[in-house]
Amino acid sequence: MDMVTPARRSEIMAGIRSKDTAPELAVRRYLHASGLRYRVHNQQLPGRPDLVFSERRLCLFVHGCFWHGCPHCRDGAREVKSNTSYWSAKIIRNKNRDAHNQSRLAVLGWHVLTIWACQVTDPAALKLLATSIRAIPPIKRSSSRGRARSASVAEPSPPEAPSPN
Ligand SMILES: [Zn+2]
Repeated sequence: MDMVTPARRSEIMAGIRSKDTAPELAVRRYLHASGLRYRVHNQQLPGRPDLVFSERRLCLFVHGCFWHGCPHCRDGAREVKSNTSYWSAKIIRNKNRDAHNQSRLAVLGWHVLTIWACQVTDPAALKLLATSIRAIPPIKRSSSRGRARSASVAEPSPPEAPSPN
């Protein structure tokens, strides 16, 4: 069964990413409830990751099984009855683009995790996801600030110039 209308499909295929999809919201709710904090829909990074944990330098994609060719479920292997070769070519292109974006992110020093829509209803998969996120230690952003702080202890900043008033 293909529940996506042709108009909706061309919208998706044109690269207008659907935001706040049910699987995305499920992941966000779970991770937020488990105490993890993130930003959503980063427009600057390759592939526009759904969730970004900047202190961990980690991007998380929540992939729709059909459009991204999920290896775990039937949806990922599903074929559209009409224009089969057209859609399978599209999905192959999507998968190639996903792989390309992930390697670009890796080159930029980002960790990348992907969870599939079919996994977001599985508590074990969500738990594993949260564990995988926590396994990547946050980079202490205070390293430069810390240095600045200890420097200012060693050499106190000069007194402020007297105000002209
Ligand atoms: Zn799937």
